[in-house]
Amino acid sequence: MVSAIVGGNWGDEGKGKITDLMAGDADIIVRFQGGANAGHTIINDYGKFALHLLPSGVFREGVINVIGQGVALNLEQLFKELDEICAKGVPMPNIMISDRAQVVMPYHILFDKLEEERLGKDSFGSTKSGIAPFYSDKYLKIGIQVCELFDDEILQKRIQNVCVVKNEYIFSIYKQNLKLEPTDIYNKLIKYRARLKPLVSNVAYFLDDAIKKNKSILIEGQLGALKDTDNGIYPFVTSSSPLAGFASVGAGIAPTAIKKIVTVVKAYSSAVGAGAFVSEIFDEAAHELRQRGGDNGEYGATTGRPRRMGWFDCVASKYGCMLQGTTDVAFSLIDVLGYLDKIPVCVAYEIDGEKTTIFPNTIELNKAKPVIEYLEGWKCNISGIKNYDELPIEARNYVEFIERYLGYPITMISNGPKREDIIIR
Ligand code: GDP
Ligand code: MG
Repeated sequence: MVSAIVGGNWGDEGKGKITDLMAGDADIIVRFQGGANAGHTIINDYGKFALHLLPSGVFREGVINVIGQGVALNLEQLFKELDEICAKGVPMPNIMISDRAQVVMPYHILFDKLEEERLGKDSFGSTKSGIAPFYSDKYLKIGIQVCELFDDEILQKRIQNVCVVKNEYIFSIYKQNLKLEPTDIYNKLIKYRARLKPLVSNVAYFLDDAIKKNKSILIEGQLGALKDTDNGIYPFVTSSSPLAGFASVGAGIAPTAIKKIVTVVKAYSSAVGAGAFVSEIFDEAAHELRQRGGDNGEYGATTGRPRRMGWFDCVASKYGCMLQGTTDVAFSLIDVLGYLDKIPVCVAYEIDGEKTTIFPNTIELNKAKPVIEYLEGWKCNISGIKNYDELPIEARNYVEFIERYLGYPITMISNGPKREDIIIR
């Protein structure tokens, strides 16, 4: 059976933790989009880790961790992350990389930085991992696939061609005194050949076979639905689709094979980068929630930047669950809210004096004001509770209130950062 774990909000919902937890029963974990701009925090018996590119099944022996063709593959980062986790005592995980995955090139990272600098105060707040230039090149059809790394003639020709165009940009648009040298780039890439070769495979056939053998497959999304290129808060989106359905593209899995879609929804809101964020809070209230959030404050797992904070947004979260095709909601980080007397929840938007529960396009969204309702807080620490019925009545009311608004069943509640902090409902 194929299940998906994906984000219902703006990312950082705690997908890594839920994937690590569910990986215990899985044979295969698949990443199908995004790249090393992800930051999934996982706390388990080996310690605390921030995974960027590696699938969250790498801590479970016997699990095959697949990097699909939709992923932005940064080879340097991949091997660095593998070496780092092994240095902390994790057995060398089983990794499979699609022969069709494309490689993040040094110039993608360079262009990400140069473009954000050029934009100045209008920048996107990119993690500068090269993701937008990478996907642009993919669709311009000048990206480099893993299979091409093993063919000298084609590789050299492709790099030379790309450098002509990129050098023109560097010189005329970015006015930089530097030049890409095809030979340098070629040499950098081929040094990974030996380590990469045994990991490369045809992922679509492998997964098709695994599905037929009824293996348990988990597909793992990065970021969240509201950052989807087509359906999210464009242009402040990511450059690939974090929707479960995109796994049929990014890993070649038949859409009809995905039977369970667990959308991770956070009990309050956080976002990174620019863009409309209707339920955002500021100053002292934001500071307090940020300090109390996550396992150690809400700071980017990749960049260390303070995350933007807000109250739970029913409109955005319901839309996120809808886009994902949710069968189950994993409601995360609820323990964080234990300090509040009253918990504000955004239940609707007001746009031009009209109340709506439809998540609109970006132009309308920029005008939206939150309609807030207040729920009673529970004012205690609820980490460690394992049974739903043992949660304070106020916490159950909060869960059930949000479940009614979402219209999707909350079947898991995460009440702490550790693997065992989970309530199955
Ligand atoms: P991801 O990108 O969706 O995997 O999420 P991140 O790892 O970037 O951010 C989630 C943060 O919340 C991390 O610091 C996690 O350790 C932490 N976390 C996950 N679930 C819970 C939870 O239920 N309670 C608390 N307090 N922290 C959690
Ligand atoms: Mg994250």
